[in-house]
Order: sequence, then C-alpha cells, then structure tokens
Amino acid sequence: MIKLKSLPLKDITINDAYWNKYINLVPDVIIPYQWDILNDRVEGAEPSYCISNFKIAAKEKDGEFQGAVFQDTDLAKWLEAVAYSLEWNPNEKLEKLADEVIDLIGKAQDETGYLNTYFTIKKPNLRWTNLKEGHELYTSGHMIEAAVAYYKATGKDKFLNIMLRNADLICDVFGENKNNKGYPGHQEIELALVKLYEVTGDKKYLDQAKAFIDRRGYQPNYFKIEEQRPEYERIFNEFSEYLPLYSQSHLPVREQTTAEGHAVRAVYMYCAMVDLAYYYNDRELLESCMRLWDNITTKRMYITGAIGSSGILERFTTDYDLPNSSNYGETCASIGLALFGRRMMQITRDSKYMDVVEKALYNTVLSGIAMDGKSFFYVNPLEVWPDNCLPRTSMEHVKPVRQKWFGVACCPPNIARTLASLAEYIYAQAEDTLWVNLFVEGKARVKFGERYINLTTKTRFPFDGNIKILLEDNEGMEFNLAVRIPGYVNKYSITADGADIGKEGYDKGYQYIRINGQKEIEIKFDLTPKFVHANPLVRADSGRVAITKGPLVYCLEEVDNGSNLSACFIDTRQPITEEYHEDLLGGTTVLKVKGMKISQENWNPDELYKDTGIVWEQKEFIAIPYCYWCNRKPGEMMVWMKEYFGDRTGFIF
Ligand SMILES: [Zn+2]
Repeated sequence: MIKLKSLPLKDITINDAYWNKYINLVPDVIIPYQWDILNDRVEGAEPSYCISNFKIAAKEKDGEFQGAVFQDTDLAKWLEAVAYSLEWNPNEKLEKLADEVIDLIGKAQDETGYLNTYFTIKKPNLRWTNLKEGHELYTSGHMIEAAVAYYKATGKDKFLNIMLRNADLICDVFGENKNNKGYPGHQEIELALVKLYEVTGDKKYLDQAKAFIDRRGYQPNYFKIEEQRPEYERIFNEFSEYLPLYSQSHLPVREQTTAEGHAVRAVYMYCAMVDLAYYYNDRELLESCMRLWDNITTKRMYITGAIGSSGILERFTTDYDLPNSSNYGETCASIGLALFGRRMMQITRDSKYMDVVEKALYNTVLSGIAMDGKSFFYVNPLEVWPDNCLPRTSMEHVKPVRQKWFGVACCPPNIARTLASLAEYIYAQAEDTLWVNLFVEGKARVKFGERYINLTTKTRFPFDGNIKILLEDNEGMEFNLAVRIPGYVNKYSITADGADIGKEGYDKGYQYIRINGQKEIEIKFDLTPKFVHANPLVRADSGRVAITKGPLVYCLEEVDNGSNLSACFIDTRQPITEEYHEDLLGGTTVLKVKGMKISQENWNPDELYKDTGIVWEQKEFIAIPYCYWCNRKPGEMMVWMKEYFGDRTGFIF
C-alpha cells in the first residue's frame, strides 16, 4: 500500500479561531523570542548558551562550552521551525538570519564532517565513546531534520550539504560493515536519516537507519560494553545503574510488546520503525509498531494524550498506572506520539491513529505553551496543587506555572516546530484521494494529476461540530474525499450539495465520498459534552470523572472554582451546560456542571481528624479546556474530578 503524503505547507493557509491564537504567534512572537533565548538575551530566563557554544566551536570567540550535552538541538529545532514558517509565511529578514546562523554551523563543523559543540569544545578525544549519554547521534538527528526542512522550504542546499557530510561520517563510523556496532542512547537520528533518504534518494541513509534499529537490544547490551571501555566517562550521575529498558535497548525492537522506558526516546524510535517498515516492506516491524501503539493508547496514555507516568527517568511504568499529579507527561513525548500516529495513519489509512494525534495536539501540546507564546510547560500534570510542588520531593519536576525557559529546553522549540508545521497534520493524499484528518478553518490547494483544485474549510471546530468544505476548480474531475469520523463522535451526517451521502463508503473511521463535480460538503458532528470514566484498573481515576467535548479535555481551575478542588464532587446525573465566552482566553466554550463540595466551615485549621462526618455545599463548577490552564492566574487545576454518588446533602461516606 502506498504511504500517504502530507500536502506541502505552502499550499495550506490556516485561518482558524482555535489555532490562530497559537499559530499566528509562531513568526511574530515565538521565533523571535526563542532567538533571543538562544542568544541569552532574555532577562530572568535560564541561559541557553546555544549560539555562544557554536561561536566558540567555530573559533569566533573564546570560552568554555556551557549547558547540557545536547544543547545544539535547541538551535536545530528553532531552525526547523523557521523553515516551516518560511514555507507558509515568507520573510526575507528571518531567512537572512537563518542563512547567517547556518554559516556559523558550517564553521563549527570540522573537516571530517563532525558537528557537535559539546565534544568539539570540551571533549574532542571522546567522540562516539559514550553513545549512551553523549547524545551525539540525537543531536545530528535534529540537525538533519532542520536541514531537510530548510532545503524544502528555501531550495538552498548549504545546510543540507553540511548535514550530508555529517551523515556520511556517521555512515562511515557506524555502517553495517564497520567495527562500531553502536546505536544512539537517545533515538532520533533514525527518523532523520529516513528524511535524508527521502530528500536525496540515497539508500545508504535508509540502510543506516535500519542498522541502528536492527542492532538495538541484542545481548550483550552495547551500552554495558561501552561502560567497560577505558575511554568511557560518565556524563549523567543518574545513569550509574543503567537500565537498558530506559533506552528501549532491553530487547530487539521486533520482540518489544510494551512501551517501556523514557517516553520521548520510545516514540521517536517507533516513528523510525514505521518508516522502515514501509520502505523495507517489513510486516514484522509494522506489527511491532501496532502492538506498541496499542499498548500505549489502551493502557499507558492519559486522557489528554500525555505519556510518561513517572517523574523519575521520564518514563513509562506499568499498565494502568496513570497518576494525575506526579506524572511527567513531557510535551515532547506527546509531540512524538503525534508524529508516530501520523505515520501509522499514513500507511494503514486507519483513523484511530489520528484520534490520538488530535488528542495530543489539542490538549497536551497546547498546554505546553502559554497564550503569549513566551512561557512553557515541560511536564504536563492533570492535577496541580501548587503548594506541594516543592524542590527535593517527589513533586519536584512539576512546575505549577509555565517557565520562561529551561536548562534542558527540549520542549519549547519542539512546540515551535510543531505549531509551524501543524498544517502537515490536516490532510493526507495518495493518488486520487484526499484524507481530511483535522478540522481546521482555512484554504488548501490540492494537486490531482496535473490539475489543482481549491478547497476552503469553514468551521468553529472544536467548539462546534459543523464543518463546511467548499470545492472550487473541480469541474470535470473525479476524486475521493475521505472525511475522518472521530471516535468520540456518536452521531454524524454528511451531505454533498445537499444530498445525504449515507453511511456506505465508511472504512476504518473514514467516510469516503466520491466527488464528481459537487461543490459543497457539509459535515455535522455531534460534539455534545460528555462525562467520561476511566477503566477501574486505573487506580488514580477510580470514582472520578472527566469532561470532554470533541477532542478537548476540560479541567477545573482554582480561579473559577475556589481552592481545594479535591473537595469538589461532580453530579453526573445533572446535565452539562455549554457557554461560549468571546472574551475569555481568546474565545472559548466553558462547560458548567453541578455538584457538591465538602464544606470547610465546621473545621478549624488546627484539627486534622475528627469523627463527626462532613457537611456538603451545593455548587456549580466551571470547566475550561485543559490546554488553557494557568493562562490567567496560577492556582490549583484538576482534570479527573471526584464523582458525587450521594442523594442528599449531609450524606456521610
Ligand atoms: Zn521536551
């Protein structure tokens, strides 16, 4: 089966009330802000040292390397975001700035093609000696992704050539017939090498990606061998008792059945596995991807599309272990999950993958960034009590307010590149079929054969389930439109020029419509808000309820509902009411639910326990979309609310 392709970013214009709030920030705020960060010009933010490190490596200034071992990737992801942004929003000044920084990158590369400021400045003799912790291959991966994106956006090949030299060196060192049988401690280069193959057609890059994936997880473990070598120097103390499972090197990838270890490493690896399964027609590898996907999405994923239950080692734990306040749920991990899901959809044509992609994008990816585009969450809890997020505790990783930057800053530029390339998620195409995966207002130009058609989408999704797709310039043409029917939609109807198209032509979550001159497709999804329960095996959510509307998960915030959300109980027998507020959070639908709250009135602060029962107060609670939390005032937040089962006030548990 042919892999579906995204439409080129330049052929899509997003003009959507829900997404504009964030997308419009990319060229105007996020890219300039992050450039200032990379140059250490933002007061009160953790320093990045990124550009400084490149200048030192390029011998343009003196000094020491500073920052994390993978600091170069912040610049890589920034450049990747710039590339995507230039594609749909050309900007000469920004392109010139990018060209200048690419020149700097070129100067920081040595004559062998090696490029990594940490090792070049600090440990020139220790290249490739600590793949477990050194992140050299991971860093090259992000640089390659940026170079490919920049080449596609501008047609300029300087950056691409820099990274081809680097990739050639990597193939030389780690190739199938070479002595070094290592593979990355943090996966990323595998999917990047696939992109390099796609843009150059040179199969050696694909073969190198396959070699990295195929050799992973065999015994004796490469990282354990590496640690025994005399030249090995530890970089991270927490890796002293290294668990191969942490880097998914505990088993050969085809034998892995559960998602284990560091969540970002895992999903980046699964992306490459899907790509390789496709290019090598490797059914076994694809089945492994399907199993791992199912394990994540049926047993190890939050309702918000967050993954990584443990704050320690940022990792998956065990089935149904989904604690709400102490989880990691790294923004990057949800981005990786979206990248994984999009690839799965593109080769299986099954909409279940896009349901999760949409969930991750609309909830956790957006919660990772403030509406001003200048502060970020790395960790995405589903419940926060700011007072207990204390350093040197098990809650230390949870930040109750978004931060200007981080010492380890993988997430903010990852959000930037994701928002800048959001349009890649909206459509997919192969032959004479166009798949509509996300419902985003705007325009697209779609090429069928030698002809272009124009498509305009009008919608207020996700606050409203009506979507109109207007087709122009399709006279005398026949093609298929495949509309995704999301899993959360219980009722829907679709008409073409007013005629009901019925339910025939439904396959794996898509309604296929044969277009033969029709001009207007009208889709109506029932997006009535719902109470949702978790499988009782999810200990953290037993007796609790969440509220959703379409792809959006809602939450309670202290600013609307007072403090101690833990004492709030929702009465799910009462209806959920919806109100659209034009002036709230840039325009949003709030949901109101009824319930009870345990009164504080008959308690004094010096009593910790007593045997006199509890008193209820009737309450109405206001819920807002989870992604918007902490955009007004810092405070408590809660997604999974306790459910009220009593019939009368004064009911004693
Ligand atoms: Zn991150």
